[in-house]
Amino acid sequence: MREDELTIGAFARACRLSPKALRLYDELRLLRPRRVDPDTGYRYYAVDQLEQARLVAWLRRLGMPLARIREVCALPPAAAAREIRAYWARVEADTAARRDLAGFLVGHLLTEPRKDDMDDTMLELRYSARSDRGLVRPANQDTAYAGGRLLAVADGFGPAGAPASAAAVEALRFLDTDELPVGNVLNVLEDAVQGATEAVRDAADGGGEAGTTLTALLWTGSRLALVHIGDSRAYVLRDGALFRITEDHTMVQSLIDEGRLTPEEAVTHPQRSLLVKALSSGTRPDLRLQDAQPGDRYLLCSDGLTTAVPDARIRELLASAGDPDDTVRALIEAANGAGGPDNVSCVVADVVGRAA
Ligand code: MG
Repeated sequence: MREDELTIGAFARACRLSPKALRLYDELRLLRPRRVDPDTGYRYYAVDQLEQARLVAWLRRLGMPLARIREVCALPPAAAAREIRAYWARVEADTAARRDLAGFLVGHLLTEPRKDDMDDTMLELRYSARSDRGLVRPANQDTAYAGGRLLAVADGFGPAGAPASAAAVEALRFLDTDELPVGNVLNVLEDAVQGATEAVRDAADGGGEAGTTLTALLWTGSRLALVHIGDSRAYVLRDGALFRITEDHTMVQSLIDEGRLTPEEAVTHPQRSLLVKALSSGTRPDLRLQDAQPGDRYLLCSDGLTTAVPDARIRELLASAGDPDDTVRALIEAANGAGGPDNVSCVVADVVGRAA
């Protein structure tokens, strides 16, 4: 053994990494021994590798993934410092988002379940809906609707996309005005969606790939029944924090769920808008009840908003004091300010105490 070399055991003790970890980091080319004895296979490390090994150990204690550590270790000190700062800012942002989600879930679980679906509490919705062609698309294939009980956004696609989205929303509109059929509100909504599916098929008239997304909320006086299929979205702004209450039915979301794609990579994925579910394709929508609280602000929107405007900006616009109509206009302006790449539709509804 040379004078300025350490055995793997001595090196491990000096840098506080285990020999097992050192062997792994060698395999991952994160920290290679200076020399491997060709006969015995023993690894030997140089004394001047200790500094880097300690850096690796510290970054592991920070929780940094190995692939990222490899990048940081290859950088000169100033750039490495910037990377670590950026990593930590990201960790703090993630933690804050998870803290908000934990708070939301605690509140959700502690909310007393209400016994009847159509009770007479003193809450109502203030709402606004707007749909815009955007700056690039030749026509608007979105449909947005808001009424005292029904909020809906649909994003049509294919040659008959516009009539498809209009038919889907039209088929739900009776829920806004007619006396609701007696029974579980989710069953009522499910039947209405079945009607909407047929209406979309008629509108598409065998037009190949035509169909639509549909994201709608039905107000029961105390809760909201949600129906959702496709990549339009529903959010709630509660106590200043923004929560998405729908999952995108897209191929990239499936890849994220499987751990094969990060949310950051999904933002620029070339097939990010490829749907795995839509109305008319015979797939089932998500249906569930959402508890509403006074002060909640709901947003339904097509992907023309969410692909152009980051969530943090959407939260800011929703949290700014404007009424639903001002807010809907501001959201659409933000999408068009970002190039207006797609049709954009927004519905904003506030849960407020009913005026006496
Ligand atoms: Mg769209």
